[in-house]
Formats: sequence, structure tokens, C-alpha cells
Amino acid sequence: MEILDTIKNRLSGKIKEANFEGANIVLYTDNEKFFREGEKEVKRVVDEIKKRIELRADEKILPSKEVAEKKIKEIVPVDAEITEIIFDVPRSIVVVEAKKPGLVIGKMGSILDQIRKETLWTPQVQRSPAIKSKITENIREVLYANNTYRRKFLNDIGKKIYHEWNPEKMDLWVRLTCLGSGRQVGRSCFLLQTPNSKVLLDCGVDVSSQGADRFPYFNIPEFNINDLDAVILSHAHLDHCGLLPYLYKMGYKGPVYLTAPTRDIAALLNLDYIGVAYKQAAAPLFSSKDVQEMVKHSIALNYNEVTDITPDIRITLYNAGHVLGSAQVHINIGNGLHNFIYTGDTKYGYTRLLDPAVNNYPRVESIQVESTYGAKEDVLPPRRETEKKFLDMVRETIEKGGKVLLPELGLGHAQETVLRVEEAMRKGDLPKVPMYIDGMIWDVNAIHTAYPDFLSAKIRNEIFQDKNPFTSDIFSRVGSPQERKAVIEGGPCIVIATSGMLVGGASVEYFRNFADNPNNLLILSCYQGPGSIGRKLQEGDTNVKVEIEGGMQDVEVKMRVELLAGLSPHSGRNELISFFNNMRPKPKRIIINHGEVSKSLDLASALYKLNRVETVVPRTLETLRLR
Ligand SMILES: [Zn+2]
Repeated sequence: MEILDTIKNRLSGKIKEANFEGANIVLYTDNEKFFREGEKEVKRVVDEIKKRIELRADEKILPSKEVAEKKIKEIVPVDAEITEIIFDVPRSIVVVEAKKPGLVIGKMGSILDQIRKETLWTPQVQRSPAIKSKITENIREVLYANNTYRRKFLNDIGKKIYHEWNPEKMDLWVRLTCLGSGRQVGRSCFLLQTPNSKVLLDCGVDVSSQGADRFPYFNIPEFNINDLDAVILSHAHLDHCGLLPYLYKMGYKGPVYLTAPTRDIAALLNLDYIGVAYKQAAAPLFSSKDVQEMVKHSIALNYNEVTDITPDIRITLYNAGHVLGSAQVHINIGNGLHNFIYTGDTKYGYTRLLDPAVNNYPRVESIQVESTYGAKEDVLPPRRETEKKFLDMVRETIEKGGKVLLPELGLGHAQETVLRVEEAMRKGDLPKVPMYIDGMIWDVNAIHTAYPDFLSAKIRNEIFQDKNPFTSDIFSRVGSPQERKAVIEGGPCIVIATSGMLVGGASVEYFRNFADNPNNLLILSCYQGPGSIGRKLQEGDTNVKVEIEGGMQDVEVKMRVELLAGLSPHSGRNELISFFNNMRPKPKRIIINHGEVSKSLDLASALYKLNRVETVVPRTLETLRLR
């Protein structure tokens, strides 16, 4: 490769090997003195070629893992509480996992620097999750077990990015095809094309639909899985990521760009989705092997980190405020000739978990926005009022000796609720009773504790000060049928379980057992799809049919049922409008999707009137020319 040869020549004789890691360039040297002191020389080359370069030691000069591990333990203060030291041998990297990563880094990176100079291994630091989770451990295993493959995979991506790198001669056009989520919620998927690139934005399913309507349209002439350069995931909800493992099953071998929490949660929710299919006696579309492939090909980015992904596309992720790790994708096409922002789902307002979505960008010509709550009447009630209503109802129930059931979505909703209850019990606003967290929600909570950097400033500070709300002793995990039985037969408590619509999942089991006691309380706070038990209860039915092994059971509902709107992780109508009022710079075109047709059109006309910019509401299968 030309660029690598140029670099090697500049650093004549000191570089044994030069490689790509995605868009980054990594040099390996077997010259110990140069490894320790070559910084300045490398910096000169960086200034010249304007690309990130990392210098690492070649395998030949590295001390053994045992020697390095011993040294690292001597250098790092005991207070850092190292939990694991992992060696990525093919890349000369050592990952130090610790409870207090700040102490492994040291002042201005001094401790890391010392590790690097004394062991020659290149150190990286990782926070040990405050709650242990099998899924995060498995994901890290998949990544490390395949590190020889990943080194080659990342190098191949770099070759593709730097091949044809010639921004001047570009004759640029940009087309955006809607493969799903046009005028509907569900199966989010767009294909972005330029003369040099084909990139997929999200790859979701529509869980509430049947048959082919569940999936985006891939059987169209402009989509060929072998030509796909990259996939970018905005966040881990299944309507944005639930079909991605299937692409790998069908032979896609390219990268998926996302944040680390999105990678972990997407893997978890997709594995859970396989399990749900089995329980419904349906054949799952893909297996855990395909979920592993997805993880193996993932490239995790932090917010605000700029990276090239093809010869003419450069992306930067920004906080979307929607769920942990959710990202808006700023897509710089043709070295600034067109800038498109794919926002995915956003929340432009404070929640307990996250800061509001970013709406200041370096440059923007066109932007996509969701319209889940896009209609005039979709103004969400004030959060504080809704939270008070919630706490009042829960308190009344506990004081009467009843049990509270909260069916919730596994990601987003559930963690907001967990934090609300924790705070109320800590401050004495709720009597202290156990809160039982069933199954998958526990794992999603655990993933939250591994990535405090992606949480709101407030929660992050609490975690850094050892006041992690997720590890409060009011929470107990419920995993087995025996444990579930004990909760059902026990005293006053709060139970949180999936699914949010009472369709499959543990929430149905609790509902069936809690329903006949008028002292118990059920709070429905998520969207309730047509036909679901949740929707029936929402409409006032007091007799519903519940599926239990091998048959249906009639359930007479005597428990108190309450609805709670206003805690959505999506922007309400007002938040969508003010997102654009305060957005800098102003876009030239707004593309609206992810909403029922009337809501999308309503939002489009309001945004047009307020901002005097073109608004478009594409149907699925329509293509827009962005430039
Ligand atoms: Zn979402």
C-alpha cells in the first residue's frame, strides 16, 4: 500500500511492519530504543500525512506475558483493584481491567506511560463492570479469541479505505434508499450510496408484523450483499438491529460500526430474540453463531471520534439521548461535499439516564429524524408530574400489602424505572421493600455499569464516587422458576420484567398470578401494540386470555391497572420541534421516518412551516437524491 510505504520510508529502517486497523495506521518496531524514544519522529510523519499513527513493539522484543503481568502489578497502585489482565498478542496490546481505571491511567497518563516504557506492551484500560454479566464476558471472549482474524480483518478494511483515496477527482452524487421504516415504526433500514460506497444505516425488524412485512426490502436491484462496504448501527433496539445477524448468516463479512454498549446490548437482545422464537415454536432466523459473527466484525467507536469508513465517507457518532450507547451518525461524504446526519431515535430532553441529544454539528445539509411522537397531540406530560403519579400509586399499593408489577421494555424504560425507585427508597419517598428484577433486564443493567462514560453527567459522577445506584441492595435478581415462585408467594414487593406489552416473557407469568388480588397494582408505561394483552387491559378489558404451556387460560383481572404516559425515551412533539429550533447549523432538508403515516406527515408540515426548509417523508423503497 502506497501510504504505508511512504511512512516506512520516512522512518527508514526502524519499522518492521506497518498495518491498518480500520482507518488507523499501526507501526510495529523491533528497535527498542526507537519504541521508547521515537515519539517525535512519528509525530513529524503524522503532521505530514494527517492520519492517526500508533507505534507498537514487535512481538520479537516483547517480554513474556508472565513477566509483563508481574511488572504491571508492581507499577499500578493496589487501590486501582485490577480484576483482569488480558493480552492481545497479535496486536502487542495488553488490556488492564480494573475497578478504578483512573488509577491505572495515572496523572496525565503517567502510569500508562510507565507500563508502556517498562513492559513494551501497549496498554489499554477497561472498567470492570460493577455487576458481573455473562454476556459482557462472552463478548470480550469472542473479541479476544479471534484476535488473529481481527488483525487481518481490520487491515483489509484499511486497505479498502486508502485505496482510491483521491478526494480531488471526485464526481460526487449521493443517494439514500429507504428499505424499511418509511411511514411506519419498525424495520429501520436505509441504504446510502455514492460512486465509491454502499453503506447500510441500521438493519431492524418489525416485531409486531408477520411474514415478509417484518423485514426491510433487500431483494431490490441496488442491494447486493457482496458490494456492501459497511453497516452502521444507531442503537440496540430490535427495530434497528434485529436483522443484522442474518446479514452475517447470508455471507456479509464487512464491518459494523457502533458504540461498545450498543455492541453488547445488541448481542444480548438478539440472543434473547432467538430464545423467544423457540418458545413460540417458530424457527429462529439466525443462530447464536451469527450473533457471534456480528460481534467479531464490530468496530466500536466513542462519541465524537472521527473515522473514515470508505474512501469517500467519514463518520462521527454523537449522543442521541435515547438509550445507553445510542448514537446519531454524522456522515461526511466526499471530504465535506455533503453532510448527512442519521439521528436514529432521539430524546431531546433530560432523562435520569442520559443527557439530551446533541444538536450542534460541524456541518449539515440533510438530516433524518424519527416521528414516533410527531403528531400535534403527542405532547408528553411533564416528567416530574408523571414520576410523582408513579410513586403515589406504588406507595399506596405497598402500604396496603400489595405487589406492584411493572412490565417494561428491556432497554431504556426499565433502567429509568429502576433508578426512579432506587432514589425514592433512598430518600424515604417509598417504603423499603425488595425490587425484583427478572431475567434479561438484569443483564442490561449490568451492561450500564460497564459504560458510565455513556451515561448522564449526574449518574456518571455518582458511579465515580462509589454511589452506583444500580448496585443498591434493594435489587434482587430473579432467574429461575423457583425464585419466581418465591416472589409470587412472598410479601409486598415491586417486580419489573419483560415484555412491556405482556406478550411472552416473565411479565405474563407474574400477571397471571397477581391478577386476582385487588390490592395488587399493574402499571403499563410502554407503547401497547394492537392485539397485545397490554392493549386489551389499556382498553379496559377485565377478562383476558393468557397463553400457558399447551393452552389458554382465562384470567379475571381484579388488580388495579394504571396507564402512565410521559416517560418515553423518544422525543415528544415539543421536543422534536425545539430540537430543530435550537439546531446549529440549520439543515437544508429534513427527512422524516419512523412514525405512523399521519404523525410523520403532521411533523413534516409543522417543521416546514417553522423552519422554511424542505421536508420529505419517503415511503419504504423510495430513493432520495441528497446531492
Ligand atoms: Zn429505539
